Amino acid sequence: MKADDVRSFASVSYWQQSIGLPLTEQSEEEHVHIETDLCIVGGGVIGSSIAWFARQAGIDALVLEARQPALGATGRNAGMALCGIADSYASAVETYGRATARELWQLTIDNREMMFGLAATLGVPHQRCGSWLLADCPEEAAALTESARLLREDGFEHNFHPGDPFGRGFLAGLHRPSDGVIHPAHFNRALMDAAGVQVMAGSPVTGIRTNADHGSGLRVESVGATIHARRVLLATNAYSSLIHPFFQDKVLPRRGQIQVTEPVPLVFPVAGYSHFGYYYFRQVAEPGQPGMGRWLMGGARHLNFAAENQFTDESTSDKVQADLAAYTAQYFPELANAPISHRWAGTMGFTQDGLPLVGELPDLPGVFYCVGFNGHGMGLGVKVAERAFGMMTEGAHPGIFDGAREMG
Ligand SMILES: Cc1cc2nc3c(=O)[nH]c(=O)nc-3n(C[C@H](O)[C@H](O)[C@H](O)COP(=O)(O)OP(=O)(O)OC[C@H]3O[C@@H](n4cnc5c(N)ncnc54)[C@H](O)[C@@H]3O)c2cc1C
Repeated sequence: MKADDVRSFASVSYWQQSIGLPLTEQSEEEHVHIETDLCIVGGGVIGSSIAWFARQAGIDALVLEARQPALGATGRNAGMALCGIADSYASAVETYGRATARELWQLTIDNREMMFGLAATLGVPHQRCGSWLLADCPEEAAALTESARLLREDGFEHNFHPGDPFGRGFLAGLHRPSDGVIHPAHFNRALMDAAGVQVMAGSPVTGIRTNADHGSGLRVESVGATIHARRVLLATNAYSSLIHPFFQDKVLPRRGQIQVTEPVPLVFPVAGYSHFGYYYFRQVAEPGQPGMGRWLMGGARHLNFAAENQFTDESTSDKVQADLAAYTAQYFPELANAPISHRWAGTMGFTQDGLPLVGELPDLPGVFYCVGFNGHGMGLGVKVAERAFGMMTEGAHPGIFDGAREMG
């Protein structure tokens, strides 16, 4: 796969269709040269957040997007805004240490509040419905039990249920009442619109270099334009290694798949996660039909790593789609025969240690990056983008997201 291949796609999400996203991709305009202070590459939730921060700071910015804003992972996710980033607080404490786990949890809470605040202002559908981590095996029940103890000690809001909270065969549940859900593609587009920056769609970036023949700064080559910029921010997530080899073993493509049904009566009006985050599910409220919602079921990557852990187009596979249906049939049998209206896939960027990367490319001063959001771009994205923006404009250290860190 090459950087200009990013324009291909093979499935369309419910979210993208519901807001009538234009799917035309090719820039038809003549090649242009444009000068700007900041060139943002990528128009997902990270690119639109950076654009929005630039607008607040009065910085002249422009976005180059290979396709259209919200055609990447942000327009294809489950729209869950959950606190925390690992499958449980206990595993985050074990992986990152207590202080970092605490900082991450607080950041996801701050992110959720900021994102919901923006969503309310921008008229983006969102709902503070609460989330449940639901154990489907004894090991996960033990992890949730330990997580509840640690969350209590650290003063984070939660309710622990030692048995099956829904009478569906789960073994334990951890409830976070302030979590919620959002229309991710709508949020992406609305934030980009609010930023009011020029967006060049259908313009994959193919190269970035110092601008020796144009005085100073950076020269960004894309299919539709050459941009002369003082600084560049890469918000290219899964596709980052196609732009620069620095990301080769640092940001790894991982496909995720979802299926959504026609509207059915509401039986599960919260955000659900199970099997250490490998399954996620919710009902998406249906406009104009109170008491009804589409059943959204995603995940099952762990049963299909060989096929899902590589660059692919955004096509779905029969195997993953069948695994998702089997999970619904086991835990939500009354929904098993609901007709499927949408199936889609998206490509995430996974990092070795599960945390995003923020920094400046060692061989290209002035080129910053904010990438590698794993399965948590809605949970963390706006606040991590704020850190990247702070690094770029004020030299602030990105802390635990420092892209120069050793990764295990
Ligand atoms: C199936 C699925 C379910 C998920 N569920 C959730 C969830 O419920 N909650 C959650 O928090 N996260 C979830 N995620 C993860 C979340 O979607 C991502 O972490 C987040 O969208 C990343 O945002 P981004 O802006 O970094 O990347 P993207 O939205 O992928 O944006 C990157 C953009 O860069 C563009 N681009 C790439 N290369 C170039 C180039 N060379 N030139 C110009 N443009 C380029 C792409 O076209 C794309 O639009 C899920 C992901 C998937 C796939």
